[in-house]
Amino acid sequence: MTASLPADTHTHTALCHHAEGMPLDYARAAFAGGLPEICITDHVPAPDGYDVNSRMAASVFPAYRTAVAEAARAFPGRVRFGIEADYYPGCERYLPEFLASAPFDLVLGSVHFIEDWGFDNPANMDRWEKADIRAVWSQYLELVRHMAERKWFDVVSHFDLPKKFGHRLKEPDVRELAAPALDAIAESGMAVELNTGGLRKPVGEIYPSLAVLGMIRERGIPIVFGSDAHAPSEVGHAFGEAVALARQAGFTSYVRFQNRIASPFPLPTDR
Ligand code: ZN
Ligand code: FE
Ligand code: FE
Ligand code: ZN
Repeated sequence: MTASLPADTHTHTALCHHAEGMPLDYARAAFAGGLPEICITDHVPAPDGYDVNSRMAASVFPAYRTAVAEAARAFPGRVRFGIEADYYPGCERYLPEFLASAPFDLVLGSVHFIEDWGFDNPANMDRWEKADIRAVWSQYLELVRHMAERKWFDVVSHFDLPKKFGHRLKEPDVRELAAPALDAIAESGMAVELNTGGLRKPVGEIYPSLAVLGMIRERGIPIVFGSDAHAPSEVGHAFGEAVALARQAGFTSYVRFQNRIASPFPLPTDR
């Protein structure tokens, strides 16, 4: 247990209405569990009314900022201030301005909606029953490509999210559809996240799959590690497994962000 773990760069707070705990609780859990660093990345407020039930109101954002600062004071140099920002057509009306309005260390970029369908929300599962699975993946990865082209985000979260409930594609199809998005990500200088939240979902897998990780490695795209914790007990969840997967794909380093700049760190050795 002396070997180190990577930083956790994807965590939520109670302010989004579907998670528990505040930044200080997440930080305490992270450092008690031996993580070197944590970034708090709650869901971005959306003043345009986008998915309002899953995020803090814009008026709550100052309290979020204060709560992250409180955790950072308790653990100097080890708590970063981030946000999980959604990409969807129309977000350009407020998002670039919003992201410039606060001194974020890290901005995660996530696609959770295809048109009006929150496809990863268990409440919207009925739409999957009628869906053409390849078409959903294709539309999703097109949105990821557009997101990368905007260059407003630092990291792509849960890259192969359409597999969440088990709607997988065969590996050749995933490769074909993922390539343009990954090319755009490489071009944008973004990193991609190994997100262990998928292990807690029906798919039972880390996002992204080993095949996609290999494509990420081939393109020289850096990686980060995220638990997508929605409770302090989930911080750093299965990071040993995630590090092993990264090694299997050929990675020897990962990055951490401060002031939206990535710095490389060696991948921790086996525990
Ligand atoms: Zn959430
Ligand atoms: Fe997300
Ligand atoms: Fe998240
Ligand atoms: Zn997420």
